[in-house]
Amino acid sequence: MTRRDELAANLRAVTDRIAAACRAAGRDPGEVELVVVTKFFPVSDVRLLAELGVTSVGENRHQEAAAKAAECRDLDLRWHFIGGLQANKAAAVATYADVVESVDRVKLVPALSKGAHQRSHPLDCLLQVSLDPPGGGEGRSGALPDELPALADAVAERGMLTLRGLMAVAPLGADPEPAFGRLAEIAADFRELYPAADRLSAGMTDDLEYAVAAGATHVRLGRAVLGQRPPVK
Ligand SMILES: *Cc1c(COP(=O)(O)O)cnc(C)c1O
Repeated sequence: MTRRDELAANLRAVTDRIAAACRAAGRDPGEVELVVVTKFFPVSDVRLLAELGVTSVGENRHQEAAAKAAECRDLDLRWHFIGGLQANKAAAVATYADVVESVDRVKLVPALSKGAHQRSHPLDCLLQVSLDPPGGGEGRSGALPDELPALADAVAERGMLTLRGLMAVAPLGADPEPAFGRLAEIAADFRELYPAADRLSAGMTDDLEYAVAAGATHVRLGRAVLGQRPPVK
């Protein structure tokens, strides 16, 4: 089997999985968009995915993402930045990303805006909300739910940034179902304040069904499409 055949088969399988999750949740499969997470995988895979009809890819490390996006400029792909963002990298990320899903603090906003202006291209922003148990402290990525309005206002004030919604990752080592249940409530509260920001990015290879049940509009799938990643260096 060629790599192309393997990726094609995996894409068919995840499309079926998303459709089944939508049916189980009483949702239309057309409401859920697939973002294929290509981190650690080569540009040759990104090219095959584009040939196979993938339109959105996700990356979580700036250097790798910047290099791949530059090598794939000829492809009609939307690049989603989904990783933890350092303030000193945020402007650079905004020069190639079409969507930044991991906006989690006000400090990033001026830099993202600067990068988007530099490129003269509006940048879609999702606010990453933490689903970690309260007091999770140190390793937390994502804003606390009560920090979202101030963060949303900071994004919405910037002409080149477009507030699109929320993103979340299920807490490590905890049951994703109640966490995504909480996310559904957070997202509903958020949409009352920002009705146009109605996107919800949640769900990875191991938990997409729970995310779809909780109203995800975007799922971010890596291993289900590309296979196991090499161990982190
Ligand atoms: C790596 C990653 C994914 C994809 O995870 P899989 O388990 O491979 O599907 C999704 N979201 C984020 C934020 C990631 O870092």
